[in-house]
Amino acid sequence: MQQQRLIVLGATGSVGESTAEVVLAARDRVGVDGLVAHRSGERLWKLGRQLEANWVGLTDQPAARALAAAHGGEKPRVVAGLDAIVEAIQSSPADRVMSAMSGFSGLVPTLAAIERGMDVLLANKETLVAAGELVIGSARQSGSRIIPVDSEHSAIFQCLANAQPPLGVILTCSGGPFRGRRPSDLAGVEPAEALNHPTWNMGPKITIDTATLMNKGLEIIEAHWLFGLDYARIRVIVHPESIVHSMVEFEDGVVMAQLGVPDMRVPIEVAMAWPERWAIPVPHLSLAGRSLTFEPPDEETFPALTLARAAGEAGGLYPCALNAANEIAVEEFLAGRISFLNIATLVQSVLEAGNWAGPADSLEAVLECDARARAAAVSRSAVG
Ligand code: NDP
Ligand code: MG
Repeated sequence: MQQQRLIVLGATGSVGESTAEVVLAARDRVGVDGLVAHRSGERLWKLGRQLEANWVGLTDQPAARALAAAHGGEKPRVVAGLDAIVEAIQSSPADRVMSAMSGFSGLVPTLAAIERGMDVLLANKETLVAAGELVIGSARQSGSRIIPVDSEHSAIFQCLANAQPPLGVILTCSGGPFRGRRPSDLAGVEPAEALNHPTWNMGPKITIDTATLMNKGLEIIEAHWLFGLDYARIRVIVHPESIVHSMVEFEDGVVMAQLGVPDMRVPIEVAMAWPERWAIPVPHLSLAGRSLTFEPPDEETFPALTLARAAGEAGGLYPCALNAANEIAVEEFLAGRISFLNIATLVQSVLEAGNWAGPADSLEAVLECDARARAAAVSRSAVG
């Protein structure tokens, strides 16, 4: 059996750790070349030893220096800083990259892997939101495949296998911890409440995004790029049980859904094994006695969904600006500097105040827009 060679970006995060579990369950099929994190040095080192990686990289230079000083000369080799990590990716024998860093920070290393022609198992949706045109164009050029890991997009990917082009897709949405609440109930929400997701256990940024429903908005844009669908063909339905992971609708009225327990190890395994399926140690779904419910999203209480769809439809640099403003707004909320409802208000004010109509067709344009939207969000947050 041919072994895959894998690089994991964001190895110490929630998706990264689940990826490590899938790799350990499929040891004979997957070898690990490199692992990347930001500054969790010792955690990364431990994973590197456990997965027998050749190198581990930290984007934070002081953390990388400390790790190298503690383990100099041992395997895995320590790679320090983003530039050296990009070089390690460009010279790596790996054929697949798990892209699971958080937020916009994933863009540059993910693009490096795509340019090298590696297949990308994509959890890091912000990369596609901010630079969809660039990422998809560059994958087309290099022949790299982008296989979704986000559970909804994995579900759609599986439903689409060997089928006709879809009429549309229906993204399911848990509704987050505040489903059923009204804006007046949400004014005084504390970060700890918003961090308590009912069905998924994830990193802090995406957990806040699921509370505002911005996560579903980002996923609409992600689906547009992954499946080449017009926005009108991408719908959202709230499904609090998180068992149906998304659906695909065909011309003849047939709807296909993918079901399973809410556990990220499944879409990670699907992306790694595709087109095979591997056995992994997750509980199997038991439906007897369970009800599955569906309701429309409440866009009045959760305007982030409307904002993201509008930014996607506006195109150009709007989605990049939306993503950057949202990353700042989430940081500000987690630091206790703005209220929960102000997350969407801040994003909206950044989108309305700037000119984001230019093309998002180069890395320079995307980086410049990201920096400009972050600065606008920081100054507006201080004012508001
Ligand atoms: P976490 O916050 O749990 O982990 C983030 C990872 O990225 C950590 O390894 C962190 O390293 C690393 N990281 C953060 N910033 C940088 C940086 N500047 N340079 C290098 N590495 C960095 O996030 P999640 O695992 O929850 O999410 C990862 C991505 O996957 C996100 O884009 C999210 O939207 C997406 N996703 C997540 C799902 C989930 O279930 N968690 C589901 C679907 C999509 P360190 O530990 O050193 O800080
Ligand atoms: Mg998702």
